[in-house]
Amino acid sequence: MSESPHDGPASEAHAREEETLEQAGLSADELKARRKALAHVRQWGDPVLRSETRPVEIFDEELRAEATRMIELMDEALGIGLAAPQVGKSVSLLVYRVGDARPIVLANPEIEYSSDDAETAQEGCLSLANVQVDVDRPVHVRVVGKDVTGETIKIEASGLEARVIQHEMDHLDGVLIIDRASKDQRREALRALREAESRSGYAA
Ligand code: ZN
Repeated sequence: MSESPHDGPASEAHAREEETLEQAGLSADELKARRKALAHVRQWGDPVLRSETRPVEIFDEELRAEATRMIELMDEALGIGLAAPQVGKSVSLLVYRVGDARPIVLANPEIEYSSDDAETAQEGCLSLANVQVDVDRPVHVRVVGKDVTGETIKIEASGLEARVIQHEMDHLDGVLIIDRASKDQRREALRALREAESRSGYAA
């Protein structure tokens, strides 16, 4: 999941998004690092984003290295969450970091409880360049899963943290924010995605 750098319509060009980030005080180096990181993030149209993931079964060095790489990519891309399918791995693994907190790695997450209390907020996604849509989600969730060592962890989250967890868990089921948007916003988002696709000439 990406933070909303602006409140503009979904059809804004990628360059425009960067302009906004520049105005927000990002250096040329940070923008360059972001572009480089995004090149490693699977984009809309890639079938891996639509596939169901399999659970993590082996908690070894390889998994820890993968999680570390995902955290680096997330940070460099200025995202606040990243799921394994976004880096081409069809496994149930996600990372996130909200604010200044330490990053969290979560494997095989399951929602144990979600509140009836829900809230609508704008979301972006590192796999859907230039798309911002309103998504309605429960405000509070309790999630159980495994940490990177295979230990069971339980997370109680509210607000933005609950939102990012649910966004990344959607990725593990092949669900994207456009699936949760209103009909009008989805139509607008798909138009922006197709425009970006035709400009680049392929579905990156
Ligand atoms: Zn996403």
